[in-house]
Amino acid sequence: MKALRRFTVRPQLPEQLQPLGSLIRNLRWSWHPASQDLFADIDQDLWEKFDGDPVKLLGAVSVARLEELAGDQGFLDRVRGLAADLDSYLTEPRWYQQQIEEVGPDLGEPGRRALPKAIAYFSMEFGVTEVLPIYSGGLGILAGDHLKSASDLGVPIIGVGLLYRFGYFWQSLSGDGWQQEHYFAHDPQGLPIDRVLDANGEQLTISVAMPGGRELTARVWQASVGRVPLLLLDADIEANDDELRATTDRLYGGDQDHRIKQELLLGIGGVRAVNAYCEITGHPLPEVFHMNEGHAGFLGLERIASVISSDGLSLAEAVTAVRAGTVFTTHTPVPAGIDRFPMDMVRHYLDADGEGVSKLVPGVKVDDILAFGAEDDPHRYNMAHMGLRLAQRANGVAKLHGVVSRDMFAGLYPGFEPSEVPIGSVTNGVHLPTWAAREMYDVAGDMAGWRDLASAEDWPEGDRVSNERLWHLRQTLRGRLIDMARVAVKESWLQRGRSSAELGWTSTILDPKVLTIGFARRVSTYKRLTLMLRDPARLKKILLDPDRPVQIIIAGKAHPADEYGKRFMQETVRFADDPEIRHRIAFLPDYDMGMASILCAGADVWLNNPIRPQEASGTSGMKAALNGVLNLSISDGWWDELYDGHDGWTIPTADGVTDEHRRDDLEAAALYDLIETRVAPLFYERPRDDRPDGWVDTVRHTLSYLGPRVQATRMVRDYVNEYYSPAATFSRAITTDLTVAKELSTWKDRVRAAWPAVRVVNVDTSGIGTEPSLGNVMAVRAFVDLGGLLPEDVEVQTVTGRVDDNEQLHEITVVPMDVIQGGTDGAEGDGFRYEAQLPLTRSGPVGYTVRVLPRNGLLASPAELGLIVTA
Ligand SMILES: *Cc1c(COP(=O)(O)O)cnc(C)c1O
Repeated sequence: MKALRRFTVRPQLPEQLQPLGSLIRNLRWSWHPASQDLFADIDQDLWEKFDGDPVKLLGAVSVARLEELAGDQGFLDRVRGLAADLDSYLTEPRWYQQQIEEVGPDLGEPGRRALPKAIAYFSMEFGVTEVLPIYSGGLGILAGDHLKSASDLGVPIIGVGLLYRFGYFWQSLSGDGWQQEHYFAHDPQGLPIDRVLDANGEQLTISVAMPGGRELTARVWQASVGRVPLLLLDADIEANDDELRATTDRLYGGDQDHRIKQELLLGIGGVRAVNAYCEITGHPLPEVFHMNEGHAGFLGLERIASVISSDGLSLAEAVTAVRAGTVFTTHTPVPAGIDRFPMDMVRHYLDADGEGVSKLVPGVKVDDILAFGAEDDPHRYNMAHMGLRLAQRANGVAKLHGVVSRDMFAGLYPGFEPSEVPIGSVTNGVHLPTWAAREMYDVAGDMAGWRDLASAEDWPEGDRVSNERLWHLRQTLRGRLIDMARVAVKESWLQRGRSSAELGWTSTILDPKVLTIGFARRVSTYKRLTLMLRDPARLKKILLDPDRPVQIIIAGKAHPADEYGKRFMQETVRFADDPEIRHRIAFLPDYDMGMASILCAGADVWLNNPIRPQEASGTSGMKAALNGVLNLSISDGWWDELYDGHDGWTIPTADGVTDEHRRDDLEAAALYDLIETRVAPLFYERPRDDRPDGWVDTVRHTLSYLGPRVQATRMVRDYVNEYYSPAATFSRAITTDLTVAKELSTWKDRVRAAWPAVRVVNVDTSGIGTEPSLGNVMAVRAFVDLGGLLPEDVEVQTVTGRVDDNEQLHEITVVPMDVIQGGTDGAEGDGFRYEAQLPLTRSGPVGYTVRVLPRNGLLASPAELGLIVTA
């Protein structure tokens, strides 16, 4: 008989075991081996059966066993010791508290560097542990690593996301290698989360207005990620009708209408949940709001509405105030990857009243909101454009991705060079305690000289770790991967309809001594899962090489609606099914965080071959690097900036080749060449003790060079220093005294109104004679009509650079000009004279021009208003 609904009854722990409850409730255990070992010792079989899920374990363990443990002094001592350890982790001062000390007490002085009292971080998905299935891939895992690293550093973040009833799908294969998707319902009581209770002891709920007078209500749960609360909104409650109840049923599984409801709930409901949470618990209110991708963009609307209603600001003033404290991170380098909704759909949900004011976002006109998401196509609402308009600071996720993003969004800043578009970059990172195998901790500690791994900027003591020790470690991790892979391949064949009796061969596939290449990621066209199959005969030869064999382990999920992706997967699976090579290549179904941690650690080489520059950052190669795995990658994402010639291999790209088939042929050939001539020879060169010392040296360099750089704690420190702190500084200056917001907003209006009249009337030069030569100083003078603005409102600049045949400037240098004479200048009308001295520092064809930009200490970038006048 099928149950209508399910729920989980939580066990009563004996008094002495109470601290076990708090050890399980806080997800710190998911990156803390000693806590995991303790749970495993409760019941080894159940721990394995439930794949390391302590909530399920505790739900299943017998009362007799719990009573036995309650009388076991050794166990109780461990419980108490770990509870005390967790308590100090949660309360002791960490890196952030040290920063606050350095900045000094907060005297509320405007303009002084501030560190935010709290930051809210919004994301559609969070990959904290596979036990909390609210993530699909890289974006979510990055968000999870962000929270964990913030916790390790003591950064006061509050995460905000959605609780999905079915999460993402579980993957298996059909007999012919086609992806099958399965969804399992999770009841919240069976997950490691708690209710957030309101003042009446009821579970907190928030609601968001829906068209037709309906309300979308969600209850609020909290996952505790170390020191960081993660608030999760769950619409699966009786207050909602069936359609609204389904809002949080699954991640990325619905149509656009389903998706926009999710994003409205996350953005608007999320801000309401954070405010209520802070009021209930006394947690400081966030001063900075971080949108992890455009999905979270609607949070800006709710904050605008709330400053309008509480502080009586105009829309323009409210936008100015909200922008100052908002950070937007974009994750996609391809326009097709941007989240966009039909304009009419957004209009429908904004739901105008008779005055054109939105019922969803009270106090704001629907047309004004629609303008935030405007793009070239008038029928589309662009969430990235909204992110850029509502956040004063924006970034891509690797240096190269910053360059690509500035290009991609240059259209929003006409007249500026792409390099001046106000989008920076913070390179992604991964959380070491989550992704480094536990055997690595001591090695990392030795290499870092036992400084705090979360804040150490380098690991200078790599030589402390012997070749013997490193090689032993690599063998151990490879062995663990192969054990896991054999079991996974057998299970997969059972799901594909074979019987155990015909699967004996799976227990001997793969060889613990053979060079192992790992490749696992979301199956999406640009990641090119099948590049390695470009020349199947050549790949086969590489796998079966008698002296230097290679084996490949592959995993990844295709989006349920992605037929192409599924076809690529099937092609790979069928290739691997070939009895001639199935002992050297395997596809493992259901890639998730648990599998990733074994796969990224156990391979010798981590392969990454996206189409450059479509991989914004990529993070699996970073997980690999933290385990001494060598990267073999296209120069894209994070690898483009962190390959130093000694930490792995870069696959040459066929730059400039426009025929994509030819490009793939060339890049695949380059990949085969590298494996045959560089990778395999280094791995199999064994000068003594059957140990590849050259390889091990590269492993050591990978660890000591990349170790400190690929960590998410480095990323979070960068966000604090370059984004959160400046945002808090500006936000405080603007919001502690709202007249500042008003003045800034009035100033912007005045500048915008005057701008059409601003022009560079004339420019002349002197000092270079008829034959300019290096070392001459050129005096540039310009007469500029400011259209009624004052010199303090603008910056006038000379721009010099190399000039091409089309008179375009390149490699520009910008020098501000000084005002030398002001006011009314008779014949020439209202205007100001400017001058700059420019030493000629480059030979060849050079050019210059003069331009005028708005200037204000509260602009994060001169390009922010998108206003510029060039001579
Ligand atoms: C790390 C990880 C990803 C992201 O890897 P990329 O290299 O960014 O593609 C995706 N899925 C899982 C399960 C992961 O652990």
